[in-house]
Amino acid sequence: MIGLMSATAAGAAARDRLATAWPDRTRVYDGPVGDAVRAAFAECEQLVCFLATGATVRLLAPLLGDKTSDPGVVCVDEGGRFAVSLVGGHAGGANELARAVGEVLGARPVVTTATDSMGLPGLDTLGFPVEGDVAGVSRALLDGEPVALRADVRWPLPALPVTAEGPYTIRVTDRAVRPAEREAVLRPPTLVVGVGASRGAPVDEVLGLVEGSLREAGLCVRSLAELATVEAKAGEPGIVEAAERLGVPLVTYPAGELATVDVPNPSAAPLAAVGTPSVAEAAALARGGELLVPKRKSAMATCAVVRRPGRGRLAIVGLGPGARDLLTPRAKAELRRASVLVGLDQYVDQIRDLLPPGTRVLESGLGAEEERARTAVAEARKGNAVALIGSGDAGVYAMASPALAEAADDIDVVGVPGVTAALAAGAILGAPLGHDHVSISLSDLHTPWEVIERRVRAAAEADLVVTFYNPRSRGRDWQLPKALAMLAGHRAPTTPVGVVRNASRPDESSRLTTLAALDPATVDMMTVVTVGNTATREVAGRMVTPRGYRWQEAVR
Ligand code: SAH
Repeated sequence: MIGLMSATAAGAAARDRLATAWPDRTRVYDGPVGDAVRAAFAECEQLVCFLATGATVRLLAPLLGDKTSDPGVVCVDEGGRFAVSLVGGHAGGANELARAVGEVLGARPVVTTATDSMGLPGLDTLGFPVEGDVAGVSRALLDGEPVALRADVRWPLPALPVTAEGPYTIRVTDRAVRPAEREAVLRPPTLVVGVGASRGAPVDEVLGLVEGSLREAGLCVRSLAELATVEAKAGEPGIVEAAERLGVPLVTYPAGELATVDVPNPSAAPLAAVGTPSVAEAAALARGGELLVPKRKSAMATCAVVRRPGRGRLAIVGLGPGARDLLTPRAKAELRRASVLVGLDQYVDQIRDLLPPGTRVLESGLGAEEERARTAVAEARKGNAVALIGSGDAGVYAMASPALAEAADDIDVVGVPGVTAALAAGAILGAPLGHDHVSISLSDLHTPWEVIERRVRAAAEADLVVTFYNPRSRGRDWQLPKALAMLAGHRAPTTPVGVVRNASRPDESSRLTTLAALDPATVDMMTVVTVGNTATREVAGRMVTPRGYRWQEAVR
């Protein structure tokens, strides 16, 4: 919940605009602002104060505790010009909130946390815990002071400007070590604890056994990724609640699968009870890894600890059609999160300025799709954080399918959707995609022409709006006229056709014509061609396909 408070009439007006925009996420705190801030600080994850920063700082000062747990606070000035991320920029989400508030109110977000303004990924934005001198190490990274990386475990990290030696250190470990001076300790989720329990085992006993085993092995509970057990114990209250209290998911496996896992300490009791000679060790080892703590027992529970192999991370990132403001914030974040970037050279150029220094860029030319896909997957399998990029959406006539066809389940995959050429063109043309539509690529390099033809015919018969990708190149000039002729067999010569070249790029151009008037020679590979259905009309120079409400009226 986001708590909102204000002191003046102008502030209250802006506050109400935000409350109206986000009715389910916000709560307005009326009354004296001091009381309002104190109440919201205790009750909300985030605050937006329509107050001067000075007033807000004075009210917040006695309430502040720790940046990992304090709410994120954003201040909006009296004139509604600025949304200032004041407290909790990263962990409290105030930087993101300042941007979002800025969008709603037309205010400029003001973000002062250093890593965000420099393009370096914040150490506390990696999705796992970090402790120690995070501020000092981040500052050193920004100032170009030597920061050494000491990794006890392999984990996919972003490109960080690190050196072999330095007065500052980033340590990557799951061991229970205290951060040294000038050291930030990253706690990647490497540990899996397998647990078994007799029916009715108390949660305190399960929890005690898990935590005790980690402690005695010198391991840190903050690196715990998950608890694992056999399916038959998926609802065992002691196990379920232990996972909840530890804040990790509970993963379960069928007994048959666990029975096939090679373990050092099988026993007859679980075999009789649940059908596998090992629960704790087998569940911990089910996805591979190194057994650090073999089976240990308490009166009613068992557990075993495994360090899982560092899993590489492959982000498949759509860059949108070209314009920077059509690149999503999530795509930007993933570009910063990667240490290896794989892509077509012209797409790499599109975002090169966003890459943190030290990013390894593996670019190749047109036609090397298969090789790019293999490279990206191979780099991820080595344990790297990889971003594989494509224009528009990376899953549409692009790299996602060849990459995922290569990938096994030994890497993590994250997809970031992008604005496709068809959508970008649609927005330029008007509303051509207002009813059922289809995209068809006219490139017969990878697809036999007969297949393409069959699909165009089907679209023609089904009266679908059609967007042609890869419509025409120097060596492929007869496909577009042929496809248009097929559509013309089912649609009037006056059917609107939109032609958009380089949508959202500096030399963007578009025009609206008709099936009869379109000259295919004016179309090239930087273009998409959208052909309307029998209901599509030109209205005030825009292409409009009726939504289908009151269909009869629309087509009349
Ligand atoms: N993944 C991309 C499509 C790649 S196929 C997407 O989701 O949009 C390449 C074809 O896409 C080009 O031949 C062209 O037809 C179309 N295309 C890509 N970007 C475009 C743009 N900015 N303007 C017009 N067409 C574009």
